Amino acid sequence: MPLLHPIPALSDNYIWALHDGRQAWVVDPGQAEPVLDWLAAERLQLAGILLTHHHGDHTGGVAALRAATAAPVWGPAHEPLPEGVQRVRDGDSLALLGGRFEVIEVPGHTAGHIAWYCAGFAPAAPTTAPDPASERGQTLGEGLLFCGDTLFSIGCGRLFEGTAAQMLASLDRLAALPEPTLVCCTHEYTLSNLRFARALEPDHPGLADYQRWCEQQRQAGRPTLPSRIGRERALNPFLRSREPALRQALQQLATALVAAGAAASTPAPVASRIRPGPGAAPTAEGAAAAALWPADVHAFAALRRCKDGFP
Ligand SMILES: [Zn+2]
Repeated sequence: MPLLHPIPALSDNYIWALHDGRQAWVVDPGQAEPVLDWLAAERLQLAGILLTHHHGDHTGGVAALRAATAAPVWGPAHEPLPEGVQRVRDGDSLALLGGRFEVIEVPGHTAGHIAWYCAGFAPAAPTTAPDPASERGQTLGEGLLFCGDTLFSIGCGRLFEGTAAQMLASLDRLAALPEPTLVCCTHEYTLSNLRFARALEPDHPGLADYQRWCEQQRQAGRPTLPSRIGRERALNPFLRSREPALRQALQQLATALVAAGAAASTPAPVASRIRPGPGAAPTAEGAAAAALWPADVHAFAALRRCKDGFP
């Protein structure tokens, strides 16, 4: 049974690693040293590198790892990446450690961002368990997602290159994966994301419970990740921007932030907007990303802006 292991790197990145006791694969190595140290300590050979997007904190270690190990690298087709990276597109797949990882294009954070997903993969627990009931060595949920900077626990990536419509469509694809899927996000942002989510929904009991557990994990020096699709669907505001109660909460928080001088302007009301009828034309950017309702894109964009301006 392959093992899943997060290698901490830079200030708050995780380089996710999978291994079978002999061969290892790593995802988004922003640094080479922590990976080389880990390979040496575990006596593993680097068999390959997967990339999700071009940002330096996800690719900075690629050149040194290739020089040291000659491991092949797979990355997105539509991103600026070093020469020699084997390019993959939506629907492509790659067999590794007994699983088949599919490429899902998820533009938004960057223009050509991809995620890697394996439906049948059931890795054993990493050194840190994703929830209190799990223990090292037990099989974690089934299904594994390496989502780069698209989906975070209780958050999502910033829109550096893509549009809100693209990001919403990308998150919709990830949210549609089976609930037990393990979500391997690449930053330890969970507690900071929870601060925003709880300002938005102070009375949400699930968020309060999850925050307590995440605080315990961090106090013990453990990651809060991986998460699961089921948990994110239930708690993550960026996967719930169509819920009327969440839209109302967003309106209230945005108004309060403007009153406190923390944000420039309150978003136009979204809770009261009525979806257009079936014959109405979607927005141009919505049409490009998916068949999205303009009001849904508007609400998602307002949520993203509110988080960006959150003190
Ligand atoms: Zn990034």
